[in-house]
Amino acid sequence: MSPIKAVRGVRDILPAETRRWQRVEAAAHRVFEAYGYREIRVPLFERTELFARGIGDETDIVKKEMYTFDDRSGESLTLRPEATASVLRAYIEHGFHVEPKPVRLYTMGPMFRYERPQAGRYRQFHQANVEALGETHPALDAEVIAMLMDFFGALGLADRLELRVNSIGDAGTRPAYIARLVDYLGPRRAELCGECRARLDRNPLRVLDCKTPGCQPIIEKAPSILDSLSREAARHFDTVRECLEAMGVAHTVDPRLVRGLDYYVRTTFEVLTAELGAQNAVAGGGRYDGLIAQLEGPADPGIGFAIGLERVVLLLGGDERGTGPLAVLIPLGEAALRRLLPAARRARQGGVPVELGYGIRKLPRELERANRLGAAWAVIAGDNELARGLALLRDMRSGEQRAVPLDGLADELIRLRAEGAGPR
Ligand code: ATP
Ligand code: MG
Repeated sequence: MSPIKAVRGVRDILPAETRRWQRVEAAAHRVFEAYGYREIRVPLFERTELFARGIGDETDIVKKEMYTFDDRSGESLTLRPEATASVLRAYIEHGFHVEPKPVRLYTMGPMFRYERPQAGRYRQFHQANVEALGETHPALDAEVIAMLMDFFGALGLADRLELRVNSIGDAGTRPAYIARLVDYLGPRRAELCGECRARLDRNPLRVLDCKTPGCQPIIEKAPSILDSLSREAARHFDTVRECLEAMGVAHTVDPRLVRGLDYYVRTTFEVLTAELGAQNAVAGGGRYDGLIAQLEGPADPGIGFAIGLERVVLLLGGDERGTGPLAVLIPLGEAALRRLLPAARRARQGGVPVELGYGIRKLPRELERANRLGAAWAVIAGDNELARGLALLRDMRSGEQRAVPLDGLADELIRLRAEGAGPR
């Protein structure tokens, strides 16, 4: 029998990577909270019906990407493929709509989609999700987008990303555009990829979303949805752009940007990178004014986005310094171990990462281990030092040693750390 491996498309995030994840998560907390968003944590699974209704039966997600199963009582449940439906369910269930508007919420965590795994595309992946609920003012759209770009700015990624915005109009005027689009695409049907031919029948707008190279020349010449906006939708979009400009948020208008979900109206946006091949979308979002009502909630509007965190972490790249201990404490024997154990604990309580040998290896082996761990210091205590109440503090770089009182050892390590010493 061979050892069991992780499920296809599902990966471990190893220690060499977790520091980058922590940086990304910390930036999200800091930036979102500065804009007044509060964290909500929603369950990893929900009734299947929530996603069917909240994402749309005709979307790729619901049609072919969901992890759906019956639990032991025969109820159909689904691992969440996205967070918006769950956040809105919670908003309705807990009566958030009576709070001052807009209600601003964010969440982070794993999502599950049955897709073809490849670099930057997994079956379990992570998103940061933001939703602003109960306000239609276009300045809110612009603020949400500015916040997204501030998140990337906080990670030093802003220059490597492109923000695209569009308006896909209102539910009321979209049918007229779709009719124009079908008039244009119909005669070119034979040139489209198989998936687009199917989309043409079920959900023609999604053709604009196709990534197949062969479809691009056709998509590029398609009529622009911006020419079919209602007066209100056009004014809304103009104001969003003016507000973005007032804040200095660089963006390009992309009339083909329709997004994959059925529920969007008016503002849509996406953040793209040229560095991750076909997986070029790092974040996407839009306004979804009818969705809360569709989930049997109040008629509150909403806007939000999701960031694909794997792709952000990929963009951040290497740089895994500073994961080792500051010092390795090396007791030479049982008696010394008894003295160094409490010293190690005090140093750790003071926030200093230290490692402890257990007095079972010879000194050269312990020093070699300290070296491999990248420690800046080794602390050596044998019977001679113990008898004098001392330990030897050895600089791992230069090999120089000096004696320090055992009683003051933890404080000495805390002081070294405060002076800026770190693992090598
Ligand atoms: P894509 O076009 O890449 O399939 P999407 O439109 O399905 O993206 P959304 O549902 O808008 O994606 O999710 C927002 C972000 O989540 C995406 O921009 C992407 O960065 C990330 N994402 C989506 N699916 C995956 C996945 N299977 N693995 C890793 N990241 C993903
Ligand atoms: Mg997708």
